[in-house]
Amino acid sequence: MNLILLGPPGAGKGTQAKRLQQKHGIAQISTGDMLRAEVKAGSVVGQRAKAVMESGQLVSDDLIIAMLEKRIQQPDAACGFILDGFPRTVPQADALDLMLDRAGTPIDAVIELKVDDAALVDRIAGRFTCAICGAGYHDNFQTPRVEGTCDVCGGHEFIRRADDRRETVAARLDAYHTQTAPILPHYRNTGRLVTLDGMADVDTVSREIEAVLAQVPKRTVTIS
Ligand code: AMP
Repeated sequence: MNLILLGPPGAGKGTQAKRLQQKHGIAQISTGDMLRAEVKAGSVVGQRAKAVMESGQLVSDDLIIAMLEKRIQQPDAACGFILDGFPRTVPQADALDLMLDRAGTPIDAVIELKVDDAALVDRIAGRFTCAICGAGYHDNFQTPRVEGTCDVCGGHEFIRRADDRRETVAARLDAYHTQTAPILPHYRNTGRLVTLDGMADVDTVSREIEAVLAQVPKRTVTIS
């Protein structure tokens, strides 16, 4: 099963993608996570992307398309994948269609999580994650049970994304509305787009996503 999760930053794509990965055993592919790993490693790609990411703009299509194409060819993506944060522009959506046509593995569903911009700034600006296991927290909505200690792994170090600052969030939202939202009609026209209320609580959104996936026709694999 190949899925795309669409929605502005802070809509809950990452959280839902991780749940889908665990439940369905398909690869979660977050281009944002991949870029952050490149920045951390100090690679050429990371050096090119760092300043762009910190300003809330989008990294160039060429760079991101090449990175994604390599990633979906990895063995863990053979049984399916959830794209979280890609495509983000019309050229990326077109390139993805071409890649998947060539591979003969189409997108089964595109799920848009719709959220109010006003709520997003508060959602994003308070986010932090455990530096060891990546568990997600929020200053107002979900603090660790014991202050300073990760509920999941007991770690004591937490990180905040450089681009989660209030000033940068506005630029990221603007990039979403001007560059990413124009890809929605592309998927709506093919009947694959389902829009869900991303303001609902996390478990409700998960249930609604599962209901959408239950309608996805199972693919027949022909062995010759
Ligand atoms: P995310 O973690 O998905 O919010 O991505 C963080 C940042 O990485 C974005 O604000 C962009 O600068 C960059 N990025 C991630 N995915 C893409 C993409 N598909 N196209 C262009 N830039 C991206």
